[in-house]
Amino acid sequence: MTLPPDLVALPKAEVHVHLEGTVRPATLEELCARVGIDPPPAFHDLASFVESFSCAWAAMITPGDYARLVREYCEDAARAGVRYAELELTTTGRPYDCLAEAVEAAARQPDIVIRFIAGTVRNLPLELAWMMLDATRGVPEVVGIGLGGPEEGFPPEPFRNLFAEAHRRGLHAAPHAGEDAGSASVRRALDALAADRIQHGIRAIEDPALVAELVRRRIPLAVCPTSNLRLGCVASLDHHPLRALWDAGALVSVNTDDPGFFGCDLAGEYAIAGRLLGLDRGGYARLARNSVESSFAPETVKVDLRSAIAEWARKG
Ligand SMILES: [Zn+2]
Repeated sequence: MTLPPDLVALPKAEVHVHLEGTVRPATLEELCARVGIDPPPAFHDLASFVESFSCAWAAMITPGDYARLVREYCEDAARAGVRYAELELTTTGRPYDCLAEAVEAAARQPDIVIRFIAGTVRNLPLELAWMMLDATRGVPEVVGIGLGGPEEGFPPEPFRNLFAEAHRRGLHAAPHAGEDAGSASVRRALDALAADRIQHGIRAIEDPALVAELVRRRIPLAVCPTSNLRLGCVASLDHHPLRALWDAGALVSVNTDDPGFFGCDLAGEYAIAGRLLGLDRGGYARLARNSVESSFAPETVKVDLRSAIAEWARKG
């Protein structure tokens, strides 16, 4: 794909990316060989992807592995112009040390500010999610709580108290919804989990009243076009709801989700959005600003990014 000139230089925030899903193929091969497991199977939809992701997750076992994932993500993301990222860690069932090492590695990265989302999974036991939440206590770099995994058959309501407690502890709520399940799933994530941001949320488009509410309340949708295509959530990029959501005035950003698995990077997602939305330079700058406003970044980071984006826009 040919990128518009200097799209890489456009300062961007990434607000929907899973640390384990950023693993470089060569690193994953090495980690699997070390623990003597086969490389993850191929995937074609969300269910097979969850299986593939779980296999990869099983190979990432030491705190050092988590530090390495952070380092390699930061190198790759910096090359795509990412200046701030919220990395979702699927720490459920992992020792606290993995989170601690990841946080420490992130603090050493010179070109990118990293915060973390403590991720839990719909189809895993709830008590693991509570353990995960407790592991984040006293770690200021963790700014939010996430919820991933299959939506169909795994509703959000059992996680209501967990998310309420996370809110009481000052964490933001960024559950996945409206990826492979319809608009009702987004509605339930808003009602049961008091979502501050929706990861994906593309199927909100099926319910105009819901879209109007998302617009009015400025609830961000962290959209991942290549991921949606690779997992069959959209038939083709030309059928992607990004355009309709953007035209409705929703606070949409584009993100990579699991770039190691999908072979994408953030500059490439901007190029896709540019084609789907017909963006000029000002449009790209608006998309990047959306990513900043969608984030849970410290206000000082937001201020710096807004002015860096404005400077980029002026250069055109
Ligand atoms: Zn995701």
